[in-house]
Amino acid sequence: MPDIVADQNALENARRFAGKEHGLFIDGVWREPRSGSAFEMRNPGDGTLLGQAAKGEAADVDLAVRAARTALEGVWADTKPAERARLLWRLADAIEAHADDFALLETLNNGKPLRDARLFDVPHAIETLRYNSGWATKLGGDTINLSGPGTWHAFTVREPIGVVAAIVPWNAPFAMSVAKMAPALAAGCTLILKPAEQTPLTALRLAHLVEEVGFPKGVFNLVTGFGETAGAALVEHPGVDKVTFTGSTEVGRHIVRAAAGNFKRVTLELGGKTPVIVMPDADITRAIEGAARSIFTNAGQVCNAGSRLFAHESVFDALVEGVAEHAGKLRVGPGLDPATQMGPVVSQEQKDRVLGYIEAGVREGARISGQGTAASGPGYFVPPTVLTGTLPTMSVVREEIFGPVLCAMSFSDGDLDAIAARANDTDYGLGAIVWTQNLSAAHRLSRKLKAGTVRVNGGGLDPALPFGGFKQSGWGRENGRDGIEAYTELKSIAIAL
Ligand code: ADP
Ligand code: MG
Repeated sequence: MPDIVADQNALENARRFAGKEHGLFIDGVWREPRSGSAFEMRNPGDGTLLGQAAKGEAADVDLAVRAARTALEGVWADTKPAERARLLWRLADAIEAHADDFALLETLNNGKPLRDARLFDVPHAIETLRYNSGWATKLGGDTINLSGPGTWHAFTVREPIGVVAAIVPWNAPFAMSVAKMAPALAAGCTLILKPAEQTPLTALRLAHLVEEVGFPKGVFNLVTGFGETAGAALVEHPGVDKVTFTGSTEVGRHIVRAAAGNFKRVTLELGGKTPVIVMPDADITRAIEGAARSIFTNAGQVCNAGSRLFAHESVFDALVEGVAEHAGKLRVGPGLDPATQMGPVVSQEQKDRVLGYIEAGVREGARISGQGTAASGPGYFVPPTVLTGTLPTMSVVREEIFGPVLCAMSFSDGDLDAIAARANDTDYGLGAIVWTQNLSAAHRLSRKLKAGTVRVNGGGLDPALPFGGFKQSGWGRENGRDGIEAYTELKSIAIAL
């Protein structure tokens, strides 16, 4: 495990980078936004100002879309797949060479523990680039046997979908920016990235490396700015062919409406309310650790966080006590503090929202069965919390809290249909987690659960494993072959011989 104490020189450099004047990266150059204005970037660990990012708006978006279109039809169309692959691999190497800078910038701007940024976010971004780099040379179609009269040569080809707008949230800003950029560029698309207004810092650093490793101008563009202006301009722009979005279900719904103008292709990765099902035969020690990790990692700001625990009554008390003990022991503090195990949430708004949900749960009759201590100080800290006595009708059970709050419930019936029905009683369908040693129950439950990803006895993200949601958790899949094919249009060609 790498040292979790920040190197002071590297930290100074990161702060200096944050504090310098930032522009928008459009058509291979850094430009001032048309608005001439900027917005603040803050450290959620102590509320301090890190610097200012350029406030891109509709006019800047228009410029970026034109640049992306020109590159798409020109230089990028002429760039062979193997060269696209090399550029992506070179970017991965460049990030790896500066891995600690990225981890520090992510921690400064998002608040997450430096250890997590180093162990998860940055390595995941690097692996995602390398994984997708490999696909650039492997995308292709099929030859098709036609049955109509005559002799035919028919086949399919995959073409890049076009200009892509990638709109990403603040909970894993770097990993998610790369998760969208890597397959889009590998497939031959060009891109405009809009990071969340809370966390543009790692995207800014990324754009500098894109410049350094030599991507042709206009292939990757970065417009920092607000959702209602820059984001809205992107999703409404007739020059954008596809929007790939990760964020709230509410904004996802808005994007679907806005995309209807020119029928943009849309991939949406939205909210979740992932159930964690613990069967009576589960390895309880591992289930407790897994359940705690699933809800407290990133302070619960994970779309796939295991926020609803369903444990068999024979193991329910052990589970609740175990997770509550974890919550009680978790060191909550600033991401740069090496002792920190859970960081702050991203903003005061998010803090108020999470505390509001805990209050609402208690008001509606839930009990707090375990709660850690939120660090004092100016950061946006919330206590990791385990609620029991929660009912399927309560807001804490139905709505995505996006914080470290677990709703624990028990079941007495071993009937898998009944268990699945409880787990599926949600508008969401992103993930589901099952703990059992019974192979047959694992398989049968996996089939019954309405979720894009089912994990049995642990697991994390992998760039090869498709990820996405059933129901109101979204449209389409990211990662894997399906993830990159989502950046292509399929063309059928039939030639009468
Ligand atoms: P949250 O409310 O938790 O911040 P959002 O879904 O609002 O989550 O934000 C996710 C991303 O969507 C951010 O990059 C944000 O700027 C962007 N966004 C917000 N509103 C819009 C919108 N109307 N159109 C396009 N993008 C938006
Ligand atoms: Mg919002």
